[in-house]
Amino acid sequence: MIVILDSNVTERTEEYRRTLDYLTGLPGIVAHVHKVQGTQQTLTEIYLIGNTKTLSAEDIRALPGVERVIRVSEEYRILGRHRDEQRASGFEYNGVTFSQDTLQVFAGLCAVDTPAHVEQMMQALRDHGQVCTRMGAYKPRTNPYAFQGHGKDCLPYVFELAGRYDIKVIAMEITHESQVDEIREALAQTGQPTGVMLQIGTRNTQNFELLKAVGRQQEFPVLFKRGFGITLNESLNAAEYLASEGNSQVVFCLRGVKTNMGDPHRNLVDFSHVPVVKRLTRMPVCVDPSHSVGSRERSPEGIFDLMHVTAQGVVAGANMVLVDFHPQPAKALVDGPQAMLFSELGWFLDDVALARECYEKRLALAKSQPAPSR
Ligand code: PEP
Ligand code: MN
Repeated sequence: MIVILDSNVTERTEEYRRTLDYLTGLPGIVAHVHKVQGTQQTLTEIYLIGNTKTLSAEDIRALPGVERVIRVSEEYRILGRHRDEQRASGFEYNGVTFSQDTLQVFAGLCAVDTPAHVEQMMQALRDHGQVCTRMGAYKPRTNPYAFQGHGKDCLPYVFELAGRYDIKVIAMEITHESQVDEIREALAQTGQPTGVMLQIGTRNTQNFELLKAVGRQQEFPVLFKRGFGITLNESLNAAEYLASEGNSQVVFCLRGVKTNMGDPHRNLVDFSHVPVVKRLTRMPVCVDPSHSVGSRERSPEGIFDLMHVTAQGVVAGANMVLVDFHPQPAKALVDGPQAMLFSELGWFLDDVALARECYEKRLALAKSQPAPSR
């Protein structure tokens, strides 16, 4: 059960103390206080854990300072929506808003290779009014002899260049918790020129110790990839590990699932799950067309499969797009075959804007319909 307090009730108020005293005194119930940093305000939610079936929601609703009481299932306790459409979703980070209503594009290098390519990427992004990017420094590779990423050595120039070109948020995968410290140190060393969203890759979706460590810090938000060989439910439960340790600033990313049924695409595209994740949880939802499709193949009319699936995700209400670009895909050290060219960035963004416009029109149409009876 979740008890949501009025937004003006803080630790210092009398209502807070009286309600918390009452709840912590309930036999067999443990109360955890959780602060939810929304885009507008910070809310206090009290999670009651134990046998809550016998508790009366009406009695608790009547306690001082209580706004709402929600009965939740065991699953995705913090990140879940629990059929409550009023629960706030999203967060703001370094001046950029991430929610189930917004859309951000993170075009960038799958793997950082040279400072020149990083600079060209950032410049292209700024020229197109973009403030977010992706930059891989730590790459989890199938083959131990393949390029593993430049690691912490590239961080200073990546962050400095991001600052120079007004990039506010960089999605960057980490494969070990020690890399969070390396990122923090490099940001401090370069004067905090940008922000970082820590990316948990599909190979680490169920690396629970990594998730707990990343969840314990609240400085960086998290881009969490669904596992490529597990169910959606298992991936959502894994994301909850981040929130259960204290970090609920999580964006959930669909990136395709592994099966030969998706051939000739690299993975079977799963963007039909965009509305499902929005219904089940409060997380903003990202789509990654690059790792889903895995190639630069085009349909006969000339549109890349990458762009078709991006549009499918955006038309379905996706809140973020993570996409690989590279100036010379043939020379990229990681995932070249799926990279779009810098010269295609404008076309890609225009296509995303068209799909978003379509989603907004669909939303208006849905809102004009009579309310569905449940
Ligand atoms: C990536 O985004 O570079 C990546 C490795 O993705 P995934 O974890 O989805 O394979
Ligand atoms: Mn990649």
